[in-house]
Amino acid sequence: MTEFDLIESIRTRCASTRTDVLLGIGDDAALLAVPPGQALAVSTDTLVAGVHFFSDAAPFDIGWKSLAVNLSDLAATGAVPAWATLALTLSSGDDAWVSAFADGFAALARQFDLALVGGDTTQGPLSITVTVHGFVPASLALRRDAAQVGDAVFVTGTLGDAAAGLGLLRGDLCAAPETDTPNAHRAALIERLHRPTPRVAQGLLLRARARACIDVSDGLVADLGHICKASGVGAEIDLIRLPTSPALRDFVGDEARAALQLGGGDDYELCFTVPEQQVPALIDALARSGGAVTRIGRIVAGAGVRVCDAGGNDVARGRAGWEHFAA
Ligand code: ADP
Ligand code: MG
Repeated sequence: MTEFDLIESIRTRCASTRTDVLLGIGDDAALLAVPPGQALAVSTDTLVAGVHFFSDAAPFDIGWKSLAVNLSDLAATGAVPAWATLALTLSSGDDAWVSAFADGFAALARQFDLALVGGDTTQGPLSITVTVHGFVPASLALRRDAAQVGDAVFVTGTLGDAAAGLGLLRGDLCAAPETDTPNAHRAALIERLHRPTPRVAQGLLLRARARACIDVSDGLVADLGHICKASGVGAEIDLIRLPTSPALRDFVGDEARAALQLGGGDDYELCFTVPEQQVPALIDALARSGGAVTRIGRIVAGAGVRVCDAGGNDVARGRAGWEHFAA
């Protein structure tokens, strides 16, 4: 396949009808119309074969994930996704691989009416860089530096599943002996690793309700730690409150689960802080949207993230084993 054929294959699969794309793929630059009154939110993430995904992973999943991790950043900003560019470095012009990759990318793009407006295609070790663009009124954008002492800390969805999926693929995580349906759980956990769900709808509902927000890509303690550092505060998390999928609860024992949920990355859930008086309205709005959220702790004076057991005592990093994961 020539470079032109590759680009054409991607362009066809990712076709969109957005009217704010004045000029899309095929010219020297895309021309895009930002709606009046909106700030442009921009974010880039690179996935490198052998580092961020297994080189032999399904190309559809790689296409999906390369967009999902970027959309997750827009979600954490409270932005509406609009456009993306795609820089692809490929070791060979494999037609079937590129088609499946573009199908995975397009499947997620369609869900959010996102237009692929340009990119670059080069030869070299497999690597994918996506840049996404979205809209948010500047005053409503969610940031890392806005947490305040007394805020409640929440997280969407469940934690630890993707890290468990990674452990399964690497072969360093085994099912607990009493597990009833190991194969179904295995599949569910690996699916969370390969097809993360960017929490875009929840991010929009957090506008004007949450204070600080981040997406959990590196692990809960590390990412909440970024909010704490940027905001000049500390946080306490209650281990017992961490939301757990049925698959993870069944599949691994408590100690391993704590390590995965505190330190494992790749969940792409949103972690955010909310002023106490906003908590009921926020829970109500998110419940009506169908997306689960869980209160997991609070913002306190000080610095860093403290993890508490059921009795309110510190969970030592060593005991739960999660320092191996923490950045
Ligand atoms: P130039 O030499 O001007 O950079 P290219 O030949 O690299 O142009 O790209 C031609 C057109 O195809 C441009 O509009 C570019 O944005 C688009 N394009 C190239 N690679 C990709 C890709 N992987 N995905 C989407 N669009 C791409
Ligand atoms: Mg180019």
